[in-house]
Amino acid sequence: MRETLVLNASFEPLATVSLRRAVVLVLQDKAVVELARPGLRLHSSAMELPAPQVIRLRRYVRVPFRRRAPWSRRGVLARDRHRCAYCGRRATTVDHVLPRSRGGGDTWLNTVAACAEDNHRKADRTPEQAGMRLLRRPFEPTPSDALLLSVGVYDGERLPGWPAVPAA
Ligand SMILES: [Zn+2]
Repeated sequence: MRETLVLNASFEPLATVSLRRAVVLVLQDKAVVELARPGLRLHSSAMELPAPQVIRLRRYVRVPFRRRAPWSRRGVLARDRHRCAYCGRRATTVDHVLPRSRGGGDTWLNTVAACAEDNHRKADRTPEQAGMRLLRRPFEPTPSDALLLSVGVYDGERLPGWPAVPAA
């Protein structure tokens, strides 16, 4: 699913929306395209538009300050760059380090990306019990990092003119 990152007029990341919704916001002149997807243009009978990866609202929207990035399976996979925490191969599943059956929760610190094979092998055990080693520690991304990750804008690919966002 293609998603577009929405920035406030002040350049703070606000949310992600579908590509379709992003295009509507641009066509309604409510937002401008800050970053286009390379090599992808949208065509209609009347016009041609670069496919927006990041758009910025023209008017500033006041939003309640979010202290924490909401947890999601998708967010965990993005945080871990779709790499298995146990073997480093491509991951398509999310593993609970402390299994849910033992009280482990859906939290950033208790979940890692894992390949289906390792997830199956670890089953209802802790890494120690399964004799498996975590290649890296899970961490909690900042809310803005979570948004950047979710649209595939990683560190090192920050947008030109993107101000440093203070950690929550
Ligand atoms: Zn693996």
